[in-house]
Amino acid sequence: MTKTNDGLMARRQAAVAQGVGQIHPIFTERAENATVWDVEGREYIDFAGGIAVLNTGHLHPKVKAAVAEQLNAFSHTCFMVLGYESYISVCEKLNHLVPGDFAKKTALFTSGSEAVENAVKVARAYTKRAGVIAFTSGYHGRTMAALTLTGKVAPYSKGMGLMSANVFRAEFPCEMHGVSEDDAIESIERIFKNDAEPSDIAAIILEPVQGEGGFYAATPSFMQRLRELCDNHGIVLIADEVQTGAGRTGTFFAMEQMGVAADITTFAKSIAGGFPLSGITGKADIMDAVTAGGLGGTYGGSPLACAAALAVIEVFEEEQLLARANEVGNKLKAALTDMQAKYSQIADVRGLGAMIAIELMEDDQPAPQYSAKILAEARNRGLILLSCGTYGNVIRVLVPLTAPDAQIDAGLAIMDSTFQ
Ligand code: PLP
Repeated sequence: MTKTNDGLMARRQAAVAQGVGQIHPIFTERAENATVWDVEGREYIDFAGGIAVLNTGHLHPKVKAAVAEQLNAFSHTCFMVLGYESYISVCEKLNHLVPGDFAKKTALFTSGSEAVENAVKVARAYTKRAGVIAFTSGYHGRTMAALTLTGKVAPYSKGMGLMSANVFRAEFPCEMHGVSEDDAIESIERIFKNDAEPSDIAAIILEPVQGEGGFYAATPSFMQRLRELCDNHGIVLIADEVQTGAGRTGTFFAMEQMGVAADITTFAKSIAGGFPLSGITGKADIMDAVTAGGLGGTYGGSPLACAAALAVIEVFEEEQLLARANEVGNKLKAALTDMQAKYSQIADVRGLGAMIAIELMEDDQPAPQYSAKILAEARNRGLILLSCGTYGNVIRVLVPLTAPDAQIDAGLAIMDSTFQ
């Protein structure tokens, strides 16, 4: 039921009083595919998908039906206590979908941060080493170890301190920041020289395309050099595909486009169409380093989330969403490049597949306030966008791959109008 404005204001204030920390401009009433309706009856095109969770859209009928069917059977039993078929089916699917021509094993959790934590735990158990190398502007989550791996401090770890003394930061190669692939490799070699022996390093973790950091894609040649470096020193290569995975970049996992396979891959977000599911898939002999009971958790691989994930994977096949991701990506890139030609504030258009962003600059400086103004204007005109990047001046587009062309065009037209 639509609430009055007064009632809504009160709810927003209550949200702040409850410690939510910010006044949410929109309260959601319902959502379907790429459309969201708020409690005031306004309609929005969703170019955010929560945060990158809705590659198959809000409440895809197949996902909804699969979860409803599971709800009619049972909603919970921890896989460590009582087994169920869908958990195993999800693991089998992921063993097949994650790149790498080797035997694999999968373990399931609930959030992306947990997947990252567990990937590091497995790498440590396997190598019997403690160190981990992560990258500048990388993002790996908000739990303590994931936070320590995360490059960006504010707002994630400001005032909270970090967990581990065994994390070393390498530079992520990025033309815009003047960091070449050679510079990035040299920054790892500097770590080996000054901070830790290669034989102290359990893992190197990176996102094939940095998400929260600003949509910077690693190149296949950099990934290949990392692969070689890891092989030379017995280091586990972890691809954090929490945001890039589940088809966003045009392949089910972005590493497929890099010409090498990671030893452990993390996944979460869109894998279960909005239900909390994450996991790691790794080389079987590496995964075997952890004894039974070493991984898992009360809700890890919940039957409801597993039912959703199996439906999402089916939808990808039936609706050919990988090809669609490339189509959507090309459409976004073309429209945003046209906007870049018209509006001097758009300094860059970048990304991989349908994981596309624009970077806003004014007077050669990052323009977070201008970016916030674009987001607010877009919202007023019926479009949900999200920012990211070290300075918050990157606007990302993560439209459901199931959105019809006309709706994507309408969203892009709103984006364009906010710059005028
Ligand atoms: N890793 C990456 C690459 C992410 O983008 C995120 C979330 O944005 C995470 C890990 C953490 O996931 P979660 O918020 O589900 O814990």
